[in-house]
Amino acid sequence: MLVHLVEIQERRLHLELACSSMFVFCTTKLGLSEGTANRRIMAARLIRRFPRLLEAIASGRIHLSNVLRLHDLFTESNVDDLVDAAAGKSKREVEELIARMAPKPPVAPSIRIVPEQRPLPSEPGPGLPPPVAVSEPARADAKVSPLSDARYKLELTIDDRTLERLEYARSLMRHKNPSGDISALFAIALEAVIEKVEKGKLGKTSRGLPPRPTKDPATVTQSARREVVERDGFRCSYVSPDGERCGSRNFLEFDHVVPRARGGTGDASNLRLRCRPHNRYAAEQAFGREHVDREIQRKRRERPTDDGSRAILQKALVGLGFRSSDADRALGQLQAQAPEVWSRPVEALLRDALAVLT
Ligand SMILES: [Zn+2]
Repeated sequence: MLVHLVEIQERRLHLELACSSMFVFCTTKLGLSEGTANRRIMAARLIRRFPRLLEAIASGRIHLSNVLRLHDLFTESNVDDLVDAAAGKSKREVEELIARMAPKPPVAPSIRIVPEQRPLPSEPGPGLPPPVAVSEPARADAKVSPLSDARYKLELTIDDRTLERLEYARSLMRHKNPSGDISALFAIALEAVIEKVEKGKLGKTSRGLPPRPTKDPATVTQSARREVVERDGFRCSYVSPDGERCGSRNFLEFDHVVPRARGGTGDASNLRLRCRPHNRYAAEQAFGREHVDREIQRKRRERPTDDGSRAILQKALVGLGFRSSDADRALGQLQAQAPEVWSRPVEALLRDALAVLT
């Protein structure tokens, strides 16, 4: 199955079938549960990066779930050693190995379903069990418990409408907050609400200002954006040969139907919403996969690693509203954990930096 998943990803078959990601493909086309899909996809990606892992898994030297536990730690230089170290080990032994290599921040954000609190009947009806004493107040509000210096755990109960909005806000913010980290989203939401209320109170509003004039016909104006978003329903507009629509809300981009380079304008009629994978898929079909790969490689080469990714993270954290000195402190803390830290994916680094800061 892992070999098949690698092949599907390689040939972009999921994109052709209107799935914006391998996750959508595994859950809707293969009928896998979300958890199984995530594990298989993570494993397939690891195998693409480190083909030697496939042999170790297939021969039973290392269990798949232990490979996944070590997911963030594999590098080109340590893959063989890490497999050796984890071969034949139990879950606990591998967790100890990980704790030695990469200490974790205390709490990961999570969403849990809590049982609804119904008002208790004053008299138990016939056949009903006696009411259980409820120690919590009937309307549970937020609970803040300190974890360590300047770090708190926040627990709150929300209704289903708020959860829906949370998920929607999360997908809207994927660009700025790729890991979908709830604490980062919360910080952004607070900043927005403070700004909004302050503006209202101080009478500072940007409404009523005339739109900025634009000269380049390829420029996408605010009004064109609004029109396209409304027309496409804030969803990816890719439709498969069978007529199935992708409809993803994550990583949406404005795609020029006739490319700018070929004189395409920024009018709504020449724009469509595409999720990033389908935007890239369209580019691969128009210009060839080799060309797109080359472009991506070129951009990657231009982007310096190490200090470069530290600078990117610094900028991202400041963009999220953290003070520059705090961002610097958090990144310093990450660097202290492991010298190789900057070779890890930026998403994972941002998540850890936010855990330090929030
Ligand atoms: Zn799509």
